[in-house]
Amino acid sequence: MRVVALVALLAACTSPTAHGVDVVDANPAPPPPAPSAPAPPTPAHSGGSGSPALPAGKAPVAAHKIDLSGAPVQGGYGRGQATGGEVAQILLDGEAVPFSDEGRFFIAYQRDAPPVVQLQVRYADGTSIDRPVEIADVAFPESRLPPITQRIEASADFQRKRAEEVSRITASRAERSDFEGWRDDFTAPAEGRISGVFGSQRFYGDEARSPHGGLDIAAPEGAAVSAPASGRVVLAGGGYSFEGNLVILDHGLGLFSAFLHLSRIDVKEGDVLAQGDLIGAVGATGRATGAHLHWGLWWNGVRFDPATLLSDAT
Ligand SMILES: [Zn+2]
Repeated sequence: MRVVALVALLAACTSPTAHGVDVVDANPAPPPPAPSAPAPPTPAHSGGSGSPALPAGKAPVAAHKIDLSGAPVQGGYGRGQATGGEVAQILLDGEAVPFSDEGRFFIAYQRDAPPVVQLQVRYADGTSIDRPVEIADVAFPESRLPPITQRIEASADFQRKRAEEVSRITASRAERSDFEGWRDDFTAPAEGRISGVFGSQRFYGDEARSPHGGLDIAAPEGAAVSAPASGRVVLAGGGYSFEGNLVILDHGLGLFSAFLHLSRIDVKEGDVLAQGDLIGAVGATGRATGAHLHWGLWWNGVRFDPATLLSDAT
């Protein structure tokens, strides 16, 4: 099982022709089931899955409302708030969504999200409301490359090292904090041309690889990489087989950014950064065909497209 997963991870975005793209995704796949935000137990009288069969006297309250903005597309995101009462639980297609005391939350939509996803808010008073969210299809690009003939990933030594790296990366994203970086209007962490988009699917011969898990920004070695939103550094280290010098930022409520291939790291674990603070410098460490920044975003086990956050910024 592990071997299959590791092999699938490799060379996910290798391109012998493109300059300034990296070789793997920012995030190890498959993501583990994420610990959910502390979600109070559902009140016994909440009516289960929010079906119309509410107990007598628990008709929906008119003041209960979900405000939702963002980019409702495959690989997009939503930012919202449930108002009108004390929120007990928020669910996206049945999975617990972390939320703040005021009922604010962030969600992300899978690259292969179905046409409609279900957002549900359960209030402490026992009522609940359902909000179907229509998700627009995205035509992710495909590229066809020659079959791979060499597989360094086959060695047992490599697999052991990689498994250790993946567990460090996974552990860095295990905690849920209440930082409010997720509320910022995100800014690009580096200046440069987009050399690789999120979600592109590569084929080596007939073999499909993992879709590209982030946004590649081509920039000269040494160019500044800055925090796209505020957050806390939960991982800062070098020597990762694919990621090279890697920094991961926690933006709160289950949202994390990863910055790959850095030539230099200027922060340490535990640092709290404001939006725009320097993280390090663009490089080509790890597996990269040229200097660029790979910026990955991860929410609650979902990888999604950083470009959707940027296009929404004002
Ligand atoms: Zn990349």
